[in-house]
Amino acid sequence: MPLHLVDHPLMHDIMTRLRDRATTSDDFRVLAYRVSLFLVAEATRDLPIAEGTVETPMETAAARRLAARVVAVPVLRAGIGMLQAFLDLVPSAQVGYFGLERNEETAVARRYYEKVPGDLGNAVVFLLDPMLATGGSAAMAVEGLKARGARRVRLVSIVAAPEGVERLAADAPETEIYTAALDRGLNDRKYILPGLGDFGDRLYGT
Ligand code: URA
Repeated sequence: MPLHLVDHPLMHDIMTRLRDRATTSDDFRVLAYRVSLFLVAEATRDLPIAEGTVETPMETAAARRLAARVVAVPVLRAGIGMLQAFLDLVPSAQVGYFGLERNEETAVARRYYEKVPGDLGNAVVFLLDPMLATGGSAAMAVEGLKARGARRVRLVSIVAAPEGVERLAADAPETEIYTAALDRGLNDRKYILPGLGDFGDRLYGT
C-alpha cells in the first residue's frame, strides 16, 4: 500500500507546534489548518486536468482546469479540523460526513452517522481523519465508502502509527495514505506515541 510521508520544512515546523502540549486550542485549530494545506496539496498532486484557454486582460492564454470529481469526507469530529484547508484548495469538492466514535475502553469504532454524496464510482474520495491509530475507524470508513461505490479512496492523516498503516494495508490495500508523520506506535489505550494527544479534544478544548 502506498504510504506518502509528506516532507517539507515549513510543515515540520507547524507539526512541532501542533504536538506541543502548551499549544492552546485556538492556535491548534490554525496549525491543523496549515498542516492540512500541505497534505491536501500532496494528496491531490496527480488529479487530472483539462487543457483549455483563458482570456487574460492582455490576450488568450493556455489554461488548465481541474477535471476530476472530488469528494472530501471528514471523519467526525476530528476530521472537521482538516476540512476548511481541503475546501480552500479544492473549492469544487463535494463534502460527505462519516460519524465514527471510538469506545474509550476497547478503542473499537462505532459508526453513528453517515451523509455522503451518491454515486461515488466516478469520484476521487479523500477521507480526512487526522490520527491513524489502530486503523479500525479508517478501515471502517473506507469500507463504508466502497459500499457506496467509491473506487478511489485516499486517506489524509496528520499523524499515523505503524499499527494503523498495517491494518489499512491488510483491510484496504488500494487506499493511499498521505501523512505528515509516521510515529513510533500506540500506548495501551491506543493513543499514538509520541503523537499529539486527543486531536478532537485539543481542537475543541474539551
Ligand atoms: N485519536 C487521537 O485523537 N489521538 C490519538 O493518539 C489516537 C487516536
